[in-house]
Amino acid sequence: MGKVTGFMEFERLEEGYKPVVERLKHYKEFVVGLDEDQAKIQGARCMDCGTPFCNSGCPVNNIIPDFNDLVYSGDWQNAITVLHSTNNFPEFTGRICPAPCEAACTINVNGDAVGIKSIEHAIIDKAWAEGWVQPQPARHKTGKKVAVVGSGPAGMAAAQQLARAGHDVTVFEKNSRIGGLLRYGIPDFKMEKTHIDRRVAQMEAEGVVFKTSTLIGAIPEGLKVTNDAKTVVSAEDLKAQFDAVLLTGGSEQSRDLPVPGRELDGVHFAMEFLPMQNKVNAGDKLKGQLRADGKHVIVIGGGDTGSDCVGTSTRHGAVSVTQFEVMPQPPEQENKPLVWPYWPLKLRTSSSHDESAEKGILQREFAISTKEFIGKNGKLTGLKTVHIEMKDGKLVEVAGTEKEYKADLVLLAMGFVNPVATVLDAFGVDKDARGNAKASTEFTGGYITNVAKVFAAGDMRRGQSLVVWAIREGRQAARSVDEFLMGCSDLPR
Ligand SMILES: Cc1cc2nc3c(=O)[nH]c(=O)nc-3n(C[C@H](O)[C@H](O)[C@H](O)COP(=O)(O)OP(=O)(O)OC[C@H]3O[C@@H](n4cnc5c(N)ncnc54)[C@H](O)[C@@H]3O)c2cc1C
Ligand code: SF4
Repeated sequence: MGKVTGFMEFERLEEGYKPVVERLKHYKEFVVGLDEDQAKIQGARCMDCGTPFCNSGCPVNNIIPDFNDLVYSGDWQNAITVLHSTNNFPEFTGRICPAPCEAACTINVNGDAVGIKSIEHAIIDKAWAEGWVQPQPARHKTGKKVAVVGSGPAGMAAAQQLARAGHDVTVFEKNSRIGGLLRYGIPDFKMEKTHIDRRVAQMEAEGVVFKTSTLIGAIPEGLKVTNDAKTVVSAEDLKAQFDAVLLTGGSEQSRDLPVPGRELDGVHFAMEFLPMQNKVNAGDKLKGQLRADGKHVIVIGGGDTGSDCVGTSTRHGAVSVTQFEVMPQPPEQENKPLVWPYWPLKLRTSSSHDESAEKGILQREFAISTKEFIGKNGKLTGLKTVHIEMKDGKLVEVAGTEKEYKADLVLLAMGFVNPVATVLDAFGVDKDARGNAKASTEFTGGYITNVAKVFAAGDMRRGQSLVVWAIREGRQAARSVDEFLMGCSDLPR
């Protein structure tokens, strides 16, 4: 609970950022975390509110008041034990989680929430630095074999839990490196990839086998998803070789914008653009990198992926970056008593927006819809838009607001519609109405699909979501798989 009067004595302290001019020269992380004393003071602000809404606001149900108190009293080693008891990878969430816990913090009703994410970040970084994060191999092996298909945060969390329960776990990944969207979608400046490599080494020491460049099932030719597969294993072979199979292949099918001119050279999915920069940062030599240097860039989509395109384009040296959002501009500040403890709709300005704005190249447009891409000799030169408004619950065009924008590069960042259907079809897994793998999240028997011994979790089951939800689903699915194999399970959910 921290210090009884801490929330009245101390202000919320945000993590710092390195200066824009400096950080735009590279792709490395630039957040300056809290030092130990600052984290202690932040922990002191946790106020023994009685019902810690933060704990249920956090998708992995981190036991936040307890680790706040431990940090306040300087017991960092127990703080990481508490944090690890619910979250396999706090260094991921401590960097890139949007922190719904803070929206739910009781102080946030009429004040500034405890900086929970910054405390989480400080605890795990100290734990790694002190050598407290060590492999935890199982004491007894069960002799059961589990295949995990996909190595994003859901697959990694599940594999770690299952290996610690004593199963022989093999993770299959079609890309050449482990990590899913953490590795190829999320830019290094938000999370450097050494954090994934360190966990892979820990998991290998716990007995997990990683098979990269290995596709399970089939992906249609020409489908624009990251795929470095050199080996293909059929769903039937996998089912025959393993006692259980967990599908954590993500929701990889990008949402398209099929308006006239979509075929022009210069219109790309965000997930064609971002993975290339992450690969180059990792030292890959690409034949031709899609770059934004000297270009007028338009990013269509106002979410995280769009913001990552803004940050990457700015680093490339784009002449201008314009971001479109189809919905109207939300309020700068939410009406807290109305929305607390839920995640509020409000204008979010990311560090990438700040950088681009400081360079004077950012324009953000709301309530705008793209009607047509225009070009010359097959090459994109611009696009046509119209403003829209909400009328009777529907978005309608506003007459007379048609406009043309110059563009050399358009990045489609409108989210993901569903998993690649052929992967689910290869296993004969039923889909829900949105095309995701159909499986419940029941305490007992959850995450299993209609196919015997085949489970599904993460974005592949719930649709496009967050890293922290993927970790939750991976952990919960691991418990279900363990129960299925052993009749009961000691794994926490
Ligand atoms: C650009 C971008 C930025 C984002 N930023 C954030 C953020 O800041 N914070 C946040 O919380 N979330 C963010 N997200 C969302 C987050 O990354 C995802 O919700 C999360 O990674 C989903 O985890 P997952 O394990 O379910 O799937 P994924 O991370 O998508 O991993 C799935 C893996 O399965 C592999 N795979 C698929 N099919 C097969 C097959 N048949 N055989 C073998 N391998 C297969 C894929 O190659 C992939 O590696 C972002 C997403 C994107 C695209
Ligand atoms: S994982 Fe996310 S929601 Fe949970 S405590 Fe950390 S920052 Fe908050």
